[in-house]
Amino acid sequence: MHNFAQITRRKSKRIYIGKVPVGDGAPIAVQSMTNTCTTDVAATVQQIKELERVGVDIVRVSVPTIDSAEAFKFIKQQVSVPLVADIHFDYRIALKVAEYGVDCLRINPGNIGNKGRIRSVVDCARDRNIPIRIGINAGSLERDLQEKYGEPTPEALLESAMRHVDILEKLNFEGFKVSVKASDVFLAVQSYRLLASRIDQPLHLGITEAGGARSGAVKSAIGIGLLLTEGIGDTLRVSLAANPVEEVKVGFDILKSLHIRARGINFIACPTCSRQEFDVIGTVNSLEKRLEDMLTPMDVSIIGCVVNGPGEALVSTLGVTGAHNKSGFYEDGVRQRTRVDNALIIDQLESRIRAKAAMLEAKNRIAVNLIQVEIRHGKEHPGDSRHERLFAGRDSILAVR
Ligand code: SF4
Repeated sequence: MHNFAQITRRKSKRIYIGKVPVGDGAPIAVQSMTNTCTTDVAATVQQIKELERVGVDIVRVSVPTIDSAEAFKFIKQQVSVPLVADIHFDYRIALKVAEYGVDCLRINPGNIGNKGRIRSVVDCARDRNIPIRIGINAGSLERDLQEKYGEPTPEALLESAMRHVDILEKLNFEGFKVSVKASDVFLAVQSYRLLASRIDQPLHLGITEAGGARSGAVKSAIGIGLLLTEGIGDTLRVSLAANPVEEVKVGFDILKSLHIRARGINFIACPTCSRQEFDVIGTVNSLEKRLEDMLTPMDVSIIGCVVNGPGEALVSTLGVTGAHNKSGFYEDGVRQRTRVDNALIIDQLESRIRAKAAMLEAKNRIAVNLIQVEIRHGKEHPGDSRHERLFAGRDSILAVR
């Protein structure tokens, strides 16, 4: 990695959401949220499995009623990705989902009533090793803070967050992460900066109610991206008024753009002009759709002519450079003797990309097995935690599970 692309992560405490390590240098985890009715167990399980298919690390499920808590029990039994239960006000729901194996409680302790109720939830979370996420949202700031500050400000969001943090700390509960979301990029970013300097816990990033698929992705990329470049953030969710699968894809695109995590194909494509020797735009669009299921990290350059093709191919895993009738094909920067047929370019590239992925996965599987053996034998690698390497290895191993 070039010096100019280095990000120094903010130091934070480590928590585990299920098996996913969060904070203290762990890979930044991508989260999404179901938008099905939680009591519809089949639909919710199906959506969670769709999110798993595109690589989600953690899924949040809203649990607004005792009925949905009962449904949560059956949802939890049918999925393997860690689940966060989103609970507002009703402490009994928190106790119920804890009993059913929830991996994290998204609950603001100051909003669940008297001290006895707070203590019962916190004690239960401690006993079962369940972390808590405190979630502050500019749209639902406490009335007294709205009056004090006049409008949601970074200081107001921080004060709101610290009220809940103080409650947990007074009860000696340290296993939590915090978010201070706002739909305004500047407000969210500055709130996170303030919070990052006040607490040691991991931070969950998000620009809330960001908008539709395109505008929300842009807003999230700016807000979350700014924070990530400053080293702030341990988990993230891109909130879109769209299919939650899109949230996961955009989340990984943000991490890929900053070289933080690799997941799936990073397409490098030229904008095209009259020099293109094949239909670059059509090829990239088709391949993006066809290869949606591929999680193996790989750079693939698809360039319409020799002006920029060879240069991009040199630094890509696979690359194609447009030429008349048959285009040049590169693997690991080396030009191959077999070219691709422009008339069949989509099919041929898909099969070559899949073949390369299978090879990389086989190699990765061996590496992951070795790490697992090391874990069983208790070997440590200085500066390179085994569990983190295992989790990072999951980025590609998922492709062949
Ligand atoms: S790489 Fe070639 S085809 Fe693509 S935009 Fe540049 S000149 Fe045009």
